[in-house]
Amino acid sequence: MKARIAVLAGDGVGREIVPEAVKVLKTVAERQGHHFEFVAGDVGGHAIDKVGVPLPQETLSIAKQSDAVLLGAVGGPKWESLEYSLRPERALLGLREQLGLYANLRPAKLYPMLADASTLRREVIEGIDMLVIRELTGGIYFGKPKGIEKLSGGGERGFNTEVYTTEEIRRIAIVAFEAARKRRKKVTSVDKANVLESSELWRRVVTEVQKGYADVALSHIYVDNCAMQLVRNPRQFDVLLCNNIFGDILSDEAAMLTGSIGMLPSASIGAKVGLFEPIHGSAPDIAGKNIANPIATIASAAMMLSYAFGLEKEARVIEQAIVTTLEQGLRTKDIHAEGMKLVGTTEMGDAIVRNLAA
Ligand code: NAD
Repeated sequence: MKARIAVLAGDGVGREIVPEAVKVLKTVAERQGHHFEFVAGDVGGHAIDKVGVPLPQETLSIAKQSDAVLLGAVGGPKWESLEYSLRPERALLGLREQLGLYANLRPAKLYPMLADASTLRREVIEGIDMLVIRELTGGIYFGKPKGIEKLSGGGERGFNTEVYTTEEIRRIAIVAFEAARKRRKKVTSVDKANVLESSELWRRVVTEVQKGYADVALSHIYVDNCAMQLVRNPRQFDVLLCNNIFGDILSDEAAMLTGSIGMLPSASIGAKVGLFEPIHGSAPDIAGKNIANPIATIASAAMMLSYAFGLEKEARVIEQAIVTTLEQGLRTKDIHAEGMKLVGTTEMGDAIVRNLAA
């Protein structure tokens, strides 16, 4: 197949890890007879330095005209004193909004050889392989009315509105059921239907959507219980379907079960063009030293092949190459342990390329 991929490396370690993922994608494309065109764009602090804004029009056009976007990370101390609307991080909000990205997908998978990097006991986390799907553009973060008002008797009142429409719930539920079909065919929908009307509607619509997915099992769980189950018995989960606020919190909890932040990929998908990026930031403390872990970004590239292009076999080839490389004992500094071979960013990328099955 032919695909055009926007490459937005951004700032800090973004500039080191994204080229490694591109290297992997190029090799996979060559071997499997696909043609990927890579178009680079400036984003974040880098774009601010060049043209004065974090998300230049040209970058937005490149993203919109692509089939998928590969992003590194944005931000850093150099731009922290800028006013909020000009900060590098604004580029992420702009991209999400302009590309209509309403679903955020974060897999949390434990690589068995890294079990000791987690703060939880091996027997609890061994075998974790879940996907948290978070609704990204609705709910209490965007609902109106919202604000802080003065009360006549003194003091103030702060308020937000948790609001979801049938259509918003339907489209995110479809993402969850479709994703489950590529996995263990189990969706657990998170809500607070015992207290919140918006959750009552959420549960009703998700149940309705499931009727079109007879091959996928659906269960419902209250968010408080879910938070407990994630640390008690996380293996029970396959796809966790969450609204915006519950997903914000639970996806971080799920991510931390597996240990290193340098290992975790993510995908944001929507109407047309999806965005694929590691969950970590620009890591200014280690930038420019060739020590950042490129695996989160390489795994994000694998998600791109699966979710943007439907290239399941090719995605598995990348995931397997990551596992093989870890099995060979190669480790970047963040996941290094005694007896393992310490390698830099480019060496890790090279090894994963070498381990891509023909
Ligand atoms: P961070 O994720 O950049 O770093 C947190 C810690 O994890 C640091 O110690 C860092 O060295 C380590 N780390 C991160 N990625 C790593 C990797 N690939 N390999 C090895 N270690 C890694 O978070 P932060 O320090 O809070 O933020 C730094 C900057 O990044 C800030 O400007 C912040 O706004 C921005 N940020 C951007 C994104 C994004 O672009 N999506 C996300 C989060 C933070």
